[in-house]
Amino acid sequence: MCTSSLDPSADGSSHAAPAADRGAPGAAPDPALLADLVVANHILVREGVLDAFGHVSVRHDKRPDRFLLARNMAPALVAAQDIVEFGEDGEPVNANGRSVYLERYIHSEIYRARPDVMAVVHSHSMSVIPFSIVPSAPFRAVTHMGSFIGVCAPVFEIRDVAGEDSDLLISNRALGAALARRLADQAVCLMRGHGSTAVGDSLKQAVFRAVYTEQNARVLSEAVRLGPVVGLSPGETETATRTIDTQAPRAWDVWRMKAEGKI
Ligand code: MN
Repeated sequence: MCTSSLDPSADGSSHAAPAADRGAPGAAPDPALLADLVVANHILVREGVLDAFGHVSVRHDKRPDRFLLARNMAPALVAAQDIVEFGEDGEPVNANGRSVYLERYIHSEIYRARPDVMAVVHSHSMSVIPFSIVPSAPFRAVTHMGSFIGVCAPVFEIRDVAGEDSDLLISNRALGAALARRLADQAVCLMRGHGSTAVGDSLKQAVFRAVYTEQNARVLSEAVRLGPVVGLSPGETETATRTIDTQAPRAWDVWRMKAEGKI
């Protein structure tokens, strides 16, 4: 299909890092929140959600219009001093010349669109991607631990916004806003040929959801080879999500110990 393509950089955002700081840092975030964000990076690597790419952010505890996200680097290597504060426009306020992630607009636009969201995980985890490229294979909850996925996770088609020739990256605010619209009020949104983004009302919940999005994808891929799949009903997704949300801290504690090499 031949359509005219929109320039993904049409809003003036630069693909080149580092980005210039805008604004000034406000009150320092809670050190415990920073520490948890570092741990979240390491957990998501250890659990196979992030590799050299992908990122996790958390909303600033003292400035809800801002969020915290590592500088442009492999998540496994993130330490507290690598965490940068970003404004609601997705631009850093204290990068001080350090490179930042090209796809930071995933985070900024979801935080703008979803006041309930306190943390965001963007990943390229391998088991999920097939469901983003096979329209006849919708991604849905098939396990109680994946109940938050619901009965049909949305898939973001970047061609609808950026035309036929984009690099598939969410590299400006307009693309981030389009992704946030596709996510709507859901917990996870697939991104065609790219990956997925999971959100939560806490860092722990977002990490939990990112891990179980990947696990649900593995189960579903195995199941469809055996025969027709019975997914969770709409009511089951809601009921199971309410129950399992109360159990998520147990997962965080053991994943943290694994990531720290203690078990
Ligand atoms: Mn990406």
